[in-house]
Amino acid sequence: MNSEYEVVIGLEVHVQLTTATKIFCGCSTAFGNAPNAQTCPVCLGLPGALPVLNRQVVENAIRTGLATDCRIAPRSIFARKNYFYPDLPKGYQISQFELPICEHGHLDIPLDDGTSKRIGITRIHMEEDAGKLQHGETPATADSSFVDLNRACTPLLEIVSEPDMRSADEAITYLKKLHQMVKALQVCDGNMEQGSFRCDANVSIRPWGQAELGTRAELKNINSFRFIKQAIEYEVERQADVLESGGKVIQETRLFDSTSGTTRSMRGKEEAHDYRYFPDPDLVPLVIDADWIERVRDALPELPEAKRARFVRDYGIPAYDAGVLTQNHEVSSYFDTTVAAGADPKQASNWIMGEVQRRLNDAGSEISAAPVDPAMLAGMLKRIADKTISGKIAKTVFDEMWKSGTDADTIIEAKGLKQVTDSGAIEAIINDVIANNAPQVADYRAGKEQLLGFFVGQVMKASKGKANPAAVNDMLKKKLQE
Ligand SMILES: [Zn+2]
Repeated sequence: MNSEYEVVIGLEVHVQLTTATKIFCGCSTAFGNAPNAQTCPVCLGLPGALPVLNRQVVENAIRTGLATDCRIAPRSIFARKNYFYPDLPKGYQISQFELPICEHGHLDIPLDDGTSKRIGITRIHMEEDAGKLQHGETPATADSSFVDLNRACTPLLEIVSEPDMRSADEAITYLKKLHQMVKALQVCDGNMEQGSFRCDANVSIRPWGQAELGTRAELKNINSFRFIKQAIEYEVERQADVLESGGKVIQETRLFDSTSGTTRSMRGKEEAHDYRYFPDPDLVPLVIDADWIERVRDALPELPEAKRARFVRDYGIPAYDAGVLTQNHEVSSYFDTTVAAGADPKQASNWIMGEVQRRLNDAGSEISAAPVDPAMLAGMLKRIADKTISGKIAKTVFDEMWKSGTDADTIIEAKGLKQVTDSGAIEAIINDVIANNAPQVADYRAGKEQLLGFFVGQVMKASKGKANPAAVNDMLKKKLQE
C-alpha cells in the first residue's frame, strides 16, 4: 500500500433487525417468500395509509446504543428522506435526521500490538429499508425490471462511525466486532449474504501531518468482510494515483465490483439538502423515559468481551480458547451449558473446538443444529473423567452419538465399550500375549525395551481397545520383568 498518505476511513453499517414484523406495519420480515407476498397498504405506500412504530425496533435500537455507550435521546424524531427510485413506493424513506435515537458512543477495537483503539460512533438511527429490483433474466423479460416490496419497510439501524480508522485492517476489525456484538445482542442475525449486515465505507487520503480531511469517496453496499477490505485497498491506491498525477479526488459514490476487485463511479456528490429532509408529520416524536432505558439495560445480554474474560477467569481455559468460543453467540452458550452440565471446561473446549466444529464445518451447519446437545457432550466427558471409557474409545462413542442422537451411557452399555480397569481381566490378557509371543519376550528381556509398545498394542487389540492403557503399561512392565 502507498505510504505517502494517511488513510482515513469512516463506516456506515446497515443492520437489519430481527423483529418478526416490519417497522411501521404488521407484515412479516421473513426472507425468501414469493415477491410482494409480504405487503400491505402501509409498506406499499398507498395514499392514506398511516405508519405505526414497532416498539421492538425501538428496544433494539436502545440495546445497541447502550452496548456502544451512546447517549439515548429522551426525544427523537422521524424524518422523511426524499428521493425517487422504483423500489421506494412512497417517494421518500422514513429515517431519522436531526434528532436520532442514539449519539456519541464508541467501540474499542483490539490492535495487533496488544493495545486497543477507540472508534467513535457518531450516531445510530432507525429507518425503513427499500424494496428490491429484479432485472429480467430470460430472453422474454430481458428488457423488464420487476419490483419486489417484501423488503420495503423492514427495520434497519444505521450505525455511523467517526472517521477514526486508519487502514483497511482497522476497518475490518471494527466491523467484525460490531457484527459479533449485534448478534450477541440478538438484534440482528448477522447474515451478510442475505444483506442483514452491510456496509458503506467513506474513504479518503491526506498527506501525513495534514489536519484537514481529504475529499472522500463513498463505497456503497458491500456485504462481505473480504470485499470491504479489497474495496478500501483498491480505493486508496486509486486516490493516491489521482493525486500523484496532479489530479483532484472528487466527492462521489462508487460501486465495488467484486469480479474485477475495482470500484467505479456511480453518481456524483450528494449532500443532505439534496434529500430535503423534514420531520414526518405522520409520526409523533418518540419519547423514551429513563425507566425504559434502565429496563433495557437490565436485560442486556453478556457481550463477547465480558464473556471472554469470564471464561478465562471462572473456567480457567486459555485466552485463545475463550477467544474462539466467544466469536459466536451460539457456540459460547453451547460451551456454557456443557460446563454447567458437569463437564471439565478444558475438555469441553477441546471437544467443541475440535470434533464438534469439524463435523459442523463438514455438514455446513450451525451448532444449534448439532445432533449432540450440551447435556450429551457433558455426559460423555464425564465418562472419560471417571475412566469408564478411554479418550480413544470416546471418539467412537461420539461418532455414534452424532449419528444416532443417543446418549453416551446407552451407547457404552449397548456396545460394551466400558474400559477394562479390572486388573484380573487385564492380567489374563497380558498372560496370553506373553505366552503367544515368546521370541519378542526373549528380545525384550535381553534389553530391547522399545518392544514395550508392541506388547501394549497387542493387549489393547486383544481387549478391543477397552483396556485402560495406563494400567496395561504398568502391569506389562512388571510381568515382562518376572
Ligand atoms: Zn406492510
